[in-house]
Amino acid sequence: MTKMKRTMVIVLSATATIASFSQVAEASSYRQAKTQLNLRTGASTENKVVTVIPTSEYVTEVSRLGTWSKVRYGTKTGYASTKFLLTDQQIGGLRIGKTLVVNPNLPLRSTYAPGESPIARAAFEKMKLAAKQEKITLVAFSTYRSYAYQKALFDKYVARDGFEKASTYSAQPGKSEHQTGLGFDIGGADSSKYAKFSFSSTKEAKWLATNSYRYGFHLRYPLGKESWTGYTYESWHFRYVGATLAAQLKVSGLTMEEYYKLEPGKPMTP
Ligand SMILES: [Zn+2]
Repeated sequence: MTKMKRTMVIVLSATATIASFSQVAEASSYRQAKTQLNLRTGASTENKVVTVIPTSEYVTEVSRLGTWSKVRYGTKTGYASTKFLLTDQQIGGLRIGKTLVVNPNLPLRSTYAPGESPIARAAFEKMKLAAKQEKITLVAFSTYRSYAYQKALFDKYVARDGFEKASTYSAQPGKSEHQTGLGFDIGGADSSKYAKFSFSSTKEAKWLATNSYRYGFHLRYPLGKESWTGYTYESWHFRYVGATLAAQLKVSGLTMEEYYKLEPGKPMTP
């Protein structure tokens, strides 16, 4: 290629770039990383990686540049491939700020499959270690569940107990927090008490009820709040919401439905 031709190509591509540049409305600018995502200095894979955004983290999309998005993540700004940034529409549930609320009224899309949140897992491991210092054993026995898995599980319960009863203790597909990758079912040393009412009187359950908020976990289906959550008491089910919100929920004693002034999460009848 001659020097002149090369210059022309550069000029042409720069023009194309300007033409495809568009501002993204601030109101709908939150996007969720579909996978672990590289944030780069420019809009191509040849640019340097600024930081790696963990799966399921929210970023602010500032503008578009071809198939790339300029995004803000914490204090960092860079470029990420637009196809790996999920819109609220593609996720479902209800996003309030950077918190994703899922309940019987606010189901997730069947195609939303983020896997276990690495942020929630890291928080759990930190909590597990702290508990161990106090001779408390914590085991996350069920975390991420796909839509298909939840569907199979729910269908099994319906076959055993019927739809209405099953709906009080098991989420219908799309309505489980486990599909977000942020729902953690936690047990103690005795595995026979996993997901059982009897877990509530164990020292592990008491430790969790008192301390889990420090690590960002919220007891999602508390005793006496069944009419708000739509679920019976689950002393083992925790939702990772981050330490700030977990502390606010703990201090107020509110469910996510009450805190965000949402409709009670009533189990749906067929
Ligand atoms: Zn659970």
